[in-house]
Amino acid sequence: MRHLYIHIPFCHRRCAYCDFNTYANMDDRIDAYVQALCAELGMLARQVTPGPPASSEAAALRPTVFLGGGTPTMLSLGQMERVLAAAAALVPLEGAEITSEANPGTVLGRDYLRGLRALGFNRLSMGVQSLHNPTLRILGRIHTAEEARQSYAEAREAGFDNLNLDFIFGLPGQDQAQWEATLDTVASWDVAHFSLYSLILEERTPLYAQVTAGRVSVPDDDAAAAMYEAAIERLGAAGYVQYEISNWVRPGEAPEVLPGTPARACHHNLAYWLNSDYIAAGAGAHGHLYPRRYSDILGIDDYISAVGAGRLPVAEVTELTPHDLWAETMMMGMRLNAGVGEAHFAARCGLSLEAAYGEALADLAGQGLVERAAARVRLTPRGRMLGNRVFERFL
Ligand code: SF4
Repeated sequence: MRHLYIHIPFCHRRCAYCDFNTYANMDDRIDAYVQALCAELGMLARQVTPGPPASSEAAALRPTVFLGGGTPTMLSLGQMERVLAAAAALVPLEGAEITSEANPGTVLGRDYLRGLRALGFNRLSMGVQSLHNPTLRILGRIHTAEEARQSYAEAREAGFDNLNLDFIFGLPGQDQAQWEATLDTVASWDVAHFSLYSLILEERTPLYAQVTAGRVSVPDDDAAAAMYEAAIERLGAAGYVQYEISNWVRPGEAPEVLPGTPARACHHNLAYWLNSDYIAAGAGAHGHLYPRRYSDILGIDDYISAVGAGRLPVAEVTELTPHDLWAETMMMGMRLNAGVGEAHFAARCGLSLEAAYGEALADLAGQGLVERAAARVRLTPRGRMLGNRVFERFL
């Protein structure tokens, strides 16, 4: 297998906007969880037969291990080492992209960061979210803007040059000038990679309740769209390449992975966008081994018990049809600026793009929403703004 996602469902405190499968005040379970996780990885290594990459584009990706959460950096270095050793039974770590998400409030200084680097982690993804302290407080983040900047600087000093920073726009109290100032500041930090997301108000979160009760206001859709356009303009002017709807990377010396996709793009996420197979492990993790998707048990204690009883902690399996595979290959791939390659589609789906979607693509091209060139199909700038009109044609 070439791609592995590992979920670490612990956080010091839940952020006001978060609906991920993560739990606060359960730190006393971390060690038992790591033990269960390693056992699950061992079971998966015995049961999953890796297939070849689906296409030459998929084969160009590095193998990847991605620790997400939650807050993986709540694990000690010893626990991280155990997890990576168990992951090595599934994914070849030699030459792999090995990422951990990191909350700047939990990255415990240079020694911890150097330790991660020494274990083999070669990419960090830090959730900074905002450089505005009042906003960080409303979001319930456990760090200030200065602490985030300092964690980033320490990570660089510890040898992490392939580093992503996450930011959110459309935040409570945020205006265009504040967002543009944030973009200009971080563009001067020499960061390898940015992921910028528009705030999504998820039901059942404290922030959703505050906004619907009128206690907190957020920018409207037009204002958020203007912020997105400012990101495209300012990061582009600072030399970043936008290779996916929400992702920007600095170009480097190495050859591109896909057309318009520099080598330091996130290979793990590229595996998702190429609709590749990947294994997932950990409470609530979602895996994709065509013709199935599966998800693990959500709760930490239930997860530990299931693994302790010697069974794979799978909660749900969804059987996929060939048509699901075609549609997902299109909807994921069209998020990329490179779009979908005809050869990749044919190799992954077993029929030509023309046979699956020729008529729909001709119609969408006629409306100026997609363009076809060099054996690829991609969204036009207008198609990007009206993505839903395009995606519904693949379902
Ligand atoms: S740190 Fe991340 S995963 Fe944890 S509560 Fe906040 S947003 Fe959710």
